[in-house]
Amino acid sequence: MQDTFGRTIDYLRISVTEACNFRCIYCAPNGHATPQESPLSVDDIERIVRAAVALGISKIRLTGGEPLLRRDIVSIVRAISSVDGVQDLALTTNGFLLGRLARDLADVGLKRVNISLDTLRRDRFVDIVGVDAFDAVWAGIHAADEAGFAPLKINVVAMRGINDDEFSDFARLTIDHPWHVRFIELMPVGASDVAREFFDRHFISASELIARLPELAKSDSPKGSGPARTYRLPNAQATIGFITPASEHFCNACNRLRVTARGALCACLFGERGEDMRGALCEGVSENKLQELLARAIDSKPEHHPFGEDFKITSVDAMSKIGG
Ligand code: SAM
Repeated sequence: MQDTFGRTIDYLRISVTEACNFRCIYCAPNGHATPQESPLSVDDIERIVRAAVALGISKIRLTGGEPLLRRDIVSIVRAISSVDGVQDLALTTNGFLLGRLARDLADVGLKRVNISLDTLRRDRFVDIVGVDAFDAVWAGIHAADEAGFAPLKINVVAMRGINDDEFSDFARLTIDHPWHVRFIELMPVGASDVAREFFDRHFISASELIARLPELAKSDSPKGSGPARTYRLPNAQATIGFITPASEHFCNACNRLRVTARGALCACLFGERGEDMRGALCEGVSENKLQELLARAIDSKPEHHPFGEDFKITSVDAMSKIGG
């Protein structure tokens, strides 16, 4: 289905929980709120996916909070992968529980994972995510690799003064492993002075990063790379991508719709929360009605996110609430 600006919407990101076991400094600069009590059920999620596929959505990504905290995550993946028309099913995770779950998730149809990792230094890891869990995440990345998820991507939020001395170490990972590394520009989260100060102090643009890695050559993108600008080091097994939501927004190519863990449909990461899918599901709506709600959300997609020129304005107070 196309939106009013002619963009084809074929990608749905579903946040399956607001709960997270990490406390990343950039995710909720104003503090992490208590998560909602009852997120969407497996059945709710499957019904939303069926309705979305009928409108032309073919790619699904599960996110959170931390999606692997859901005790029924394997059932969620199994239910989605059983829907005819789902061509790509991926998940974004902090990797902590992947060592335990990677094989089971692959067995029920998960195709790909993106793992968030902002430092390769054990001591620094705890300062960034609030939990001393580098070894568990590193084991999770290996487990994902062994389970056959491909392309396997590592997402690094680039932050001046926090991890900007590690960019070449991350880049070198692509020589030693078939893991694609993607640097994500810090996005403004939270409308407080503290949040703005954090953003101003730590934002670093993709152009500056690229300039610091002079050996990079332009490259084709691996599957599911969406808006990333992609490069490669000589002799690398995998690529290095840069995602530039702040310095160079890619809204003209946006193909996404989001559902929060509370069941609100969002047409834009930084836009207003939209239709209440959860309420509709509780009232036992028909699939036609679900399709109507999704179509209305697609029609309401703004041309671009609201932090264009002054990208310090944001309506998101915690990325864990919407799923990043
Ligand atoms: N818990 C999972 C994880 O850690 O990947 C999924 C949820 S997390 C909110 C999804 C993605 O959003 C992660 O890659 C995270 O690094 C990114 N993210 C969160 N806050 C961000 C911010 N302020 N700027 C840029 N990326 C952010």
